[in-house]
Amino acid sequence: MTAFAPIPDFARGPDIPSSGYLVTELGGGAYGITSGVDNTVFLVTRKGVVVVDAPLDLDDRLLQGIEEVTPKPVTHLIYSHAHADHIGAAHLLARDGVQIVAHELTGRFIEEARDSRRPLPTETFSGTRHELTVDGERIVPEYKGDWHQAGNLFIHLPEQRVLAAIDSFSVRNAPFFRLLFAAHVPAYFDAMDQMLEYDFDTVVSGHMDLFGTPEDVQTNREYLHDLRSAAAEALRTVDLREAGAGVPDNNKQAQLKVWMDRVVARAAELMPTGWEKRIGGTDIFLSDNLNAVAWSVFID
Ligand SMILES: [Zn+2]
Repeated sequence: MTAFAPIPDFARGPDIPSSGYLVTELGGGAYGITSGVDNTVFLVTRKGVVVVDAPLDLDDRLLQGIEEVTPKPVTHLIYSHAHADHIGAAHLLARDGVQIVAHELTGRFIEEARDSRRPLPTETFSGTRHELTVDGERIVPEYKGDWHQAGNLFIHLPEQRVLAAIDSFSVRNAPFFRLLFAAHVPAYFDAMDQMLEYDFDTVVSGHMDLFGTPEDVQTNREYLHDLRSAAAEALRTVDLREAGAGVPDNNKQAQLKVWMDRVVARAAELMPTGWEKRIGGTDIFLSDNLNAVAWSVFID
C-alpha cells in the first residue's frame, strides 16, 4: 500500500463528535453541517428551514443536526447538482409540501438516474439565475458554467455572506482526484474567479470538515495556476514519439498512455516546492490533478 503523509493540522477541522456530525453556526440563521466527509449548509427562516442538498454520508444525521438547532420543519431543499453523494439522502427530507428547487439540467440527470433516493425537483429553472425569497430571506442560485456537472449551482445567501459552491474545491486541501471530476476543466478554472466575485465570508464546498474563506478560494486558484503552468511546460518538453519509443508502433494507445504518464511525472517535478506547507493532500492527489490539467491543456 502507498504511504501518504499525514494531513497537517491546518488542513483539518475540529474532531467530529460520536454523534457523527458537527453543526457550525455561520451567522444570520445559517449553519454548516459536516460528517467529516460531506458537508452542506442550511438556513433557518421565520417559519422553516431551507436546506442545500442532503449528502449521502450525513444521511439521517442531517435531520438530527437541524433538530439540534430548531424544531421548525424543512420547507425547501435546493439541489446544488445531481450527484448522489450530495443529494442521495434527499428522500429523507422530501415530505409532502417540501419544495425541491434545482436547475432543469439537474432535473434531467435525476430523471435519467431513476434513483429513489433522489426525488425529482418540484421546481426547476432554466437559464442562469433564480432568486428565491423565503420568509423574507434571499437565496440566489446561479448557473455560471459546467465547472463540475451541467446544471451545477452557486447558491448565495447574500445577507448571511455564505456561498455554497458544492464540489468546487477542498478547503485547505488539494482538489480530490481529477479536480473533483470537473465536467469541463477550463470552466473549473473559471469557477474560482466566479466565486471570488461574490460577497461572502464563508464558502461551503461540499466535502470534508472545514468551511472556507475567500482566501482559501484564492489559495486553490493559485494551486491550480501552478498545476497548469507545470503541465504546460511538461507538454512542451516531453515528446510523444520519444516517450513511446519502447512501445510497439502498432500499439498507439499504449504509446499515448506512456507519454501522458511521463508528462504527469515531469509536471510533478516542475511543481514549485512548499505547497505541502500550505495545503494538505498534495501527495495524494497530485498525479490525478495533473492528469486532468495536462489533458485539458492538450485538448481544450
Ligand atoms: Zn458532484
